[in-house]
Amino acid sequence: MRKNILALCLSLGLATSAMAEQTHWGYQGDNAPENWGNLPDAQTCASGKTQSPIDIFDSKNNKQLPALKFNYQHADIKQIIDNGHSLQFNFDANSTFSYENKTYKLVQFHAHEPAEHTINGVRYPLELHFVHQAADHSNLVIAVFVQEGKENSYFEKLSVFKQLVKNSSENTDILFNPEHIYPKNHSYYRYTGSLTTPPCSEPVTWILFRQPITLSKDEIEEISHYLPKNNNRPVQPLNNRIIENN
Ligand SMILES: [Zn+2]
Repeated sequence: MRKNILALCLSLGLATSAMAEQTHWGYQGDNAPENWGNLPDAQTCASGKTQSPIDIFDSKNNKQLPALKFNYQHADIKQIIDNGHSLQFNFDANSTFSYENKTYKLVQFHAHEPAEHTINGVRYPLELHFVHQAADHSNLVIAVFVQEGKENSYFEKLSVFKQLVKNSSENTDILFNPEHIYPKNHSYYRYTGSLTTPPCSEPVTWILFRQPITLSKDEIEEISHYLPKNNNRPVQPLNNRIIENN
């Protein structure tokens, strides 16, 4: 429905600047991922050699990866945005994650439907990206895969998103500690990739939990209803990269 309205507005020349911004790229037709590299400032989408997502698989070179230490106790979601590409939950600046002598701020999380990364060939129905940024602007994304199963009562804290009008935002004040959403088992995969949306910037440190979490069928359907269908970029070539896991 949203796409039809957008197409109608564009054909009538009614696009506002906000709407025009949202039509620069997408997942279908002329805006599809294979054309992102033609966008201004997004050449990396086509020319980059360490792009994301990828197909993840277990390597035989298991490594002692660093333990994950979160400092999310005061994480507060201040805004929920339907930006036309995903549903995005913005945090205030009080939560950090320290990894390999660098401190990253938790910035936002958003969702892809279905998952962007595949794990040993399996594609989960949802993938959540918790985006972190360091003072030097380097990015680290923690990916959480969602499979259908038991309902998740902590997820219900986010239910205000169901009141969101398409292509709009809502100011909120929701104490939300992502550690309560992350799987109990912190075993993970790590590789160096990119943002999975334009400008597809490299490098991004990717940490992907091996264990998926569960949401109920209804919860997955609710969140999917607010996401553009198939907002997942196709998997990219691995090239010479190494995927580590513990
Ligand atoms: Zn993402």
